[in-house]
Amino acid sequence: MNPWLIAAPTTLAAAAAGIAAYGAVYPRSQLFGAAVSRTNSPRKLALTFDDGPNPAITPKLLDLLDRFNARATFFVIGKHARECPDLLKETASRGHVIGNHTDAHPNLFWLKPDQITVELRCCNYSIVAATGAPPRWFRPPFGFRNPWVVPTARELHQRVVMWTLIPGDWMATSSEWLIPRMEPIAERAQRNLRPSGAEEGTSNGAATGDILCLHDGGHRQLNADRLPTLAALEYWLPRWRDLGLEFVTIDEAVSAPAT
Ligand SMILES: [Zn+2]
Repeated sequence: MNPWLIAAPTTLAAAAAGIAAYGAVYPRSQLFGAAVSRTNSPRKLALTFDDGPNPAITPKLLDLLDRFNARATFFVIGKHARECPDLLKETASRGHVIGNHTDAHPNLFWLKPDQITVELRCCNYSIVAATGAPPRWFRPPFGFRNPWVVPTARELHQRVVMWTLIPGDWMATSSEWLIPRMEPIAERAQRNLRPSGAEEGTSNGAATGDILCLHDGGHRQLNADRLPTLAALEYWLPRWRDLGLEFVTIDEAVSAPAT
């Protein structure tokens, strides 16, 4: 007999809630639909920034990324995009990819399909108004999904993007706190990348690369302080480059490797 059918109702409810929570927030869960949760090569590191645009941080971040010829993906909030459309336009024009991160950053787990559609469409509208191009990628706020999030994004021709590492930079009060929390990227690169010319390790399923989730803004207000994020990146970008990592957008993270 199916053990689900003989479980006490409270146990059943708890188990179902547990599975729902796993599907809702575990970054690599595919329970509620397909999501991109890693790049297709251990050499490719996708830097992603959520909750912007942010006039206090994003311009400095763009300059920092330029210094390392790094292109990234920015999952922006619609209400922030309407506050600073020129900054969003500049971000796109400097070669970065813009993604949808909803209009007001609600927890989508509790929203009905039509409410999710409104959140995505309003953000899309603000991105198109600023950049002229609709986004092809979507990241749910807090990583929370429910059964309607992925299909709703798909209807709008967007794929859901999660991450392999989220160091919690919104809590950082110093780069000293944040830098060690970004260490796993370098550790994996040291393990999986061999000197150029040698074959990269693939036997243990390591032939996939990291998607790092950082924040250039804050969902509660514009001008959030993300200076520790900038400082931690200034520390890591040259080290990642020297380890042989390539900084890619999500477009490049899923594109076929060059032959
Ligand atoms: Zn967010």
